[in-house]
Amino acid sequence: MRLAMYGGTFNPIHLGHMHAARAVVEGLSLDKLLLMPANVPPHKTMPQGSASPAQRLDMCRIAADLLDRVEACPLELERTGPSYTVDTLEALKQRYPQAEVWLVVGTDMVLTFDRWREPRKMAQLCRLAVVARDESDRQRIAEKARQLRESLDLGIDIIDCPALPMSSTQVRESLDETLLHPAVLDYIRQNKLYLPALETLRAEVERRVSPKRMAHILGCERMAAQMAQRYGVDDYTVRAAAILHDCTKALSEKEQLTLCEKWNIIFDYDEGNFAQLIHADTGAETARRVFKMPDDIVDAIRTHTTGDTHMTDLQKILYVADMCEESRTWPGVEELRTLALTDLEGAVTAAMERTAAFIREQGKEPYYKTLDALKLRKLPVETEERI
Ligand code: FE
Ligand code: FE
Repeated sequence: MRLAMYGGTFNPIHLGHMHAARAVVEGLSLDKLLLMPANVPPHKTMPQGSASPAQRLDMCRIAADLLDRVEACPLELERTGPSYTVDTLEALKQRYPQAEVWLVVGTDMVLTFDRWREPRKMAQLCRLAVVARDESDRQRIAEKARQLRESLDLGIDIIDCPALPMSSTQVRESLDETLLHPAVLDYIRQNKLYLPALETLRAEVERRVSPKRMAHILGCERMAAQMAQRYGVDDYTVRAAAILHDCTKALSEKEQLTLCEKWNIIFDYDEGNFAQLIHADTGAETARRVFKMPDDIVDAIRTHTTGDTHMTDLQKILYVADMCEESRTWPGVEELRTLALTDLEGAVTAAMERTAAFIREQGKEPYYKTLDALKLRKLPVETEERI
């Protein structure tokens, strides 16, 4: 059996890794390649906001399912304390005594091979499969390979694999569709991995809005965070939604329309309501596309002005907090503030009624979704059940 071990932090596994795995499987005619997420790599500490070991393994499993003769292996994760490759190779030898084993490494790793833990023992346990990104890489590797063959009797195979230029940091920061497999990206989104720090979001929004709007946004964040604590909603999620909810509010009508065209945003409100409502749709899409926010946050931003017939607690909190945060001064705001922290459903209904009244006072007709939502909320419970 021809077996290779491909270790790494895989935080997250990206297309560059998947590409290399495929090249090694084919280049060496392997029976099996094991993607092996490292536990605590001895040479680096993990950055903030990283995936947990179990999540890194999950992502490797997703990637492995998409590749022929590739499996994810938890061997290193199951060991406690720092993991050394030599220990893993020994464990693999025990598990697959008949196998011919390769260790997949990049150029940098092979150049420093003599400084790894127990290089001589490693040379007895495996051959190296070195991934060469280009011709200059190949030359440097060939040179080093000659030395290692002589000094340690280490077997080395060079696999040509044109590099996809990307670093894990870049992948984490951009969550770019061209750097990650869609299935892995889905997992990242669903599990809310690698989201930007709230501080970063605040700074980004501050650049886009007036100081007065920013004061409203920060007030909204504080109010929403209080409500989140009261109703058991995740603090980061609620704060991120509040920070981003008005991020496109300062754009002109023309700029709003340009975004709608660019991102295919379809809206169904008429001219009278456009100026009030469009920033919720463009803000939601900005949160998704620019700030890589997950769907629940995007949805909360989309409904923050109009409300909707069926809302999650997150949507309700943002809807109410936006109306009654500390810088709001309309008559009756204090009652809504109190209600917001004691009765979420009552607060949503009161806020919707107030919104509809505001709009009618301006001589306009409230948006139909707000009216539909209000109608549904006011149905007696048994009637609602009969429907
Ligand atoms: Fe708004
Ligand atoms: Fe707002």
